[in-house]
Formats: sequence, structure tokens, C-alpha cells
Amino acid sequence: MKFASRLRSLTASVAVLLSAGLLAPSLSAAEQVVVYSARNEQLIKPLFDLYQKETGVRVRFLTDKEGPLLARLKAEGANTPADILLTVDAGNLWQAAEAGLLQATDSEVLEKNIPAHLRDPENRWFGLSVRARTLVYNTENVDPAELSTYEDLADAKWKNRLCLRTSNKVYNQSLVAMLIQEHGEQAAEGIVRGWVANLATSPFSDDTAALKAVAVGQCDVTVVNTYYLGRLMRSEPGLPLKIFWPNQSAENSGTHVNVSGAGITLHAKNPEGARKLLEWLSSGEAQAAFAGDNLEYPVNPAVPVVDQVAAWGEFRQNPINVTFAGSHQAAAVKLMDRAGYR
Ligand code: FE
Repeated sequence: MKFASRLRSLTASVAVLLSAGLLAPSLSAAEQVVVYSARNEQLIKPLFDLYQKETGVRVRFLTDKEGPLLARLKAEGANTPADILLTVDAGNLWQAAEAGLLQATDSEVLEKNIPAHLRDPENRWFGLSVRARTLVYNTENVDPAELSTYEDLADAKWKNRLCLRTSNKVYNQSLVAMLIQEHGEQAAEGIVRGWVANLATSPFSDDTAALKAVAVGQCDVTVVNTYYLGRLMRSEPGLPLKIFWPNQSAENSGTHVNVSGAGITLHAKNPEGARKLLEWLSSGEAQAAFAGDNLEYPVNPAVPVVDQVAAWGEFRQNPINVTFAGSHQAAAVKLMDRAGYR
């Protein structure tokens, strides 16, 4: 009875793997690396093809949203074919590590290429691109001298002038989590309450919708990841929108950044191959393409940014470790709920 049910579940998981195309009987584990990716195929496939060309190592991948990928890793347990989990936001990477789905890896290359605040202090995940969550304002309605910090957006002078994306997006949960780390929960709640009081309209479902609302003058300023502005301005270059880098003065700690990144799974069949692939993604040409193709910033400071991104100017990053985006995430969600941020 016990054996029969074990056989059934084994047969079921093999069927899943075959249907996902991730079991390659002809290749030994050492010749391939399997990636579960919340980043889309257009971004990763060209890179993985290049990696195979350069090293002979085949990279197989499966793309899905991070929720289903994490659920899949959990359900597969020791039987997972995945060597690497690739996803966005330190909050999600932290969740994966906390759930025991990732293993620590020691790598001098990763430590050298990736600044300490952009990777897990316990080496279970590593940032591979940086996304800045910054202010964007309407150039016709706002004098940039009025702008200064995220905290200042809680000031009554922004009444009915602020647009935000909803609080259920992990990007905003991470932003508030970092405010908690910096100011403590009580002060962070005061800031978020101030934002809510200044909203011109109810929160938007995505960053692009918030940007469009600013562009048409429904509100004056919003908080978004820069690549959404980059994409929008590519399709509509005439929009009266501009980036403002907040929290840049000496008494402030810098603009909020987050990462997309990856970690090696606890049950990786090829952890050595996985580490080499991550090292390659953190260096040179691969790093430039990984960040640049989505108009993000390379995590490796030695790699130049693409021209469209460089045109936004330089800014100082908040150096607080992005891991706090995860460890304060639950507190941030509750705080936003208490503050009436929907
Ligand atoms: Fe995004």
C-alpha cells in the first residue's frame, strides 16, 4: 500500500518533469543546469544560448510566476530538477531562502562582482540586476526643487498630487519594509499614512498606469521602478515625465534599490554548474545584457549601463542590505493595511 502510493507519486512527478521538458536522459547532471525562472524567456534564453556556446553547458529552464515556482519547488522537494531559482525582488528571494528552498554557496567571484548590500548575508541568493524605485514627476506641473525624499511625499503640500501603485505589489512592500528598517515601524507608519492622505486617486494596478496618470496631470508625482518609465518613453517619447532621484542629500541614505537575482536550490543536482552559471551572469557581457535588456542597472559596478539608462543620471543607492525587504515584509504588509493603503 505504502509502496504503491510512493510509486504513484514518483510516476506523477516524472510525468510533470517530462511534460516540462526538463528531464534530459541523454545529458548527465554535470552537463546541464536547470533554472526555474520568474524572469521571462525573451530575457533569459539568449543569455543561456550564449552560455552554452561559450561553455558547452546546456541550460534548461522553465518560466512561471514566482508564486507557482516556489510552490513547485516545495512540492518537488528532493526530486526537483531545478538547480537555480531566478526571480525578482529581494522580498521573494528572502521568502525562498526562509522556506529552506535554497542552499548557501561560497564564491569569491560572486562576492567580488556583487556589492554586499545586494546579496544575502548568508550567500543563499545573489542580486544580478538592480532596479531603482524612484520618483517620477510631471515636468509641466512640478518644479523639481519641490521634490526631495520619499518621506516628504507625506507632507500636506502634496495633497491630491500623489499617485501610487497598489500595496499588494511586492515592490511597494519592499519599499515600506526598507522604511521600517531605516525609521522604525511607528515612524514608517506615519509616512505611509501621509502618502495615503495625499493620494489624488485610488492606487493603480501597475507602475505604467501610475506613470500615465502623472503624464495626463491626474496627479503630479509617483513612485515607480525606472525601467517602466524607460519602456513607456520608448513608445511615447513626448510625455512630460522626468525622474527625480530622492534621498540624495547628505542627511538621507540614498534612493531605494532592489534586485532581481538568483540562488542555488537546496536539492540542486548540479550545484557546481549552477555556481558557475551565476558567476558568469555576474560578469562582463552577460551582466551588461541581463541588466540592460530590461533597462535595469548592472549589479556589478564595473559593468557600464546602457545609454538610455545612463541618460537618467547618476544617483546614490541606499546601502542598507536588501534582505530587510524580506525580513520586514510581513510587518510592512500589516502596516500598509493599518494605514489604509490599498
Ligand atoms: Fe517589474
